[in-house]
Amino acid sequence: MQNWGGNVTFTAPALIDATSVAQVRRAVASGGRVRAIGTRHSFNELADTDGTLVSVLDMPPDFHLDEHAGTVSFAAGTRYGAVAAYLVQHGLALHNTGSLPHISVAGAIATGTHGSGVDLGNLATAVRALELVGPGGDLRRIAAGDGDFAGSVVALGSLGVVTRVTLAVQPSYLIRQDVYEHLPWPVLLADVDAVVGAAYSVSVFLDWRGDTVRQVWLKRRVSSEDEPVADDLLGAARNPSATASIISPIDNTTPLGVARPWAFTLPHFRLDATPSAGDEIQSEYFVPREHAADALRAVREQAPVFAPHLLISELRTVAADDLWLSPANGRDSLAIHFTWRNDTPAVLDVLPAIEAALAPFAPRPHWAKVHTMAPQAVLETYPDLPRMRDLITRADPQGVFRNEHLDRALGLQREFA
Ligand SMILES: Cc1cc2nc3c(=O)[nH]c(=O)nc-3n(C[C@H](O)[C@H](O)[C@H](O)COP(=O)(O)OP(=O)(O)OC[C@H]3O[C@@H](n4cnc5c(N)ncnc54)[C@H](O)[C@@H]3O)c2cc1C
Repeated sequence: MQNWGGNVTFTAPALIDATSVAQVRRAVASGGRVRAIGTRHSFNELADTDGTLVSVLDMPPDFHLDEHAGTVSFAAGTRYGAVAAYLVQHGLALHNTGSLPHISVAGAIATGTHGSGVDLGNLATAVRALELVGPGGDLRRIAAGDGDFAGSVVALGSLGVVTRVTLAVQPSYLIRQDVYEHLPWPVLLADVDAVVGAAYSVSVFLDWRGDTVRQVWLKRRVSSEDEPVADDLLGAARNPSATASIISPIDNTTPLGVARPWAFTLPHFRLDATPSAGDEIQSEYFVPREHAADALRAVREQAPVFAPHLLISELRTVAADDLWLSPANGRDSLAIHFTWRNDTPAVLDVLPAIEAALAPFAPRPHWAKVHTMAPQAVLETYPDLPRMRDLITRADPQGVFRNEHLDRALGLQREFA
């Protein structure tokens, strides 16, 4: 079994596709190591195990709206697209989405998956409660306000198999996507905040070459379908006939130049289409937004080294949060993303140049993507790491949910109680 990108082959000898919480509990209680697996969209060995992989993707969603609390709860393996379809039917919305609706909610929140927006936290910040099966097969619930909640959401699968989630919802809203082309690099570097703050959600697509960045996608929150939009963004011109070919050669992206309910225009990719060929590798680094211009300058200087292997880069923003392992913990962040040609040796070869360029800005790599940073350099940037290590060893003293990748990533000791 491989991941979506095809760059990881899982070594786990067994996979259980659970259709009920009871089945998950039995799977965990039967002994041996376990890792939860979602839609396999991660690009590294985080989800692998030498024991049993447990998937909750096949559990029926079983949506439950609590209008008074402003929340929806459902089975954790449900994909964002299915959640969005349900919410749109009920006139409701999430605050944000990632680039594609195909990923499972449990997998996304476990790794701090994000969309874009200077005022928008990552997808895990919408979580209000979780139910998870811990070691021994016990089922427990943890909710916002409980002691260890801030460590239990972006938890990399370290605390157990999440079976149900409760997310904050809000009334539905319209998002209009527009593409602006050829923003001059000096304009971007002079005021990154003006560009990334120009709409509810902004994505900057670039190949680091030339004098301009290729496209800026503004996802504006508008009050009506015919609300007019500006033709100029700091010297970049709106192209009403732009296509999404910069991220995809085939027709699988959400509509440009029109306003639609959030679920149809906040993700880049449509639920009813394959997101892309899957023939790629991804890397991404989060730096404090206050250092955005310097970080971009530093990476751009390395472009001759890495550009030959790059398909496209994307800049997004994430608002600071207080989740212990969130890449945006305590920092309003700029996320600098690289979609690479599917050539692992070449990618591993060029990443150190990018990481060295970013080193002065204390970068945090995306937990689910490929990087070559020393674990210690990453962990120094997480002030709540000691609390997280303590939580993992308290919650899972036998190391049922541990694997080598996780231990290395979090600097966990390998002895178990
Ligand atoms: C085409 C593509 C686009 C992407 N776009 C974005 C993006 O816009 N923004 C972004 O931030 N990232 C993005 N990613 C990365 C992606 O969001 C993460 O890899 C995310 O973890 C995927 O969720 P998954 O269900 O596939 O998780 P998996 O890869 O299956 O697992 C990832 C982690 O989640 C844990 N996990 C999964 N299910 C559970 C569960 N039920 N209980 C406990 N832990 C669980 C696993 O143990 C593992 O540690 C993208 C990836 C791809 C391939």
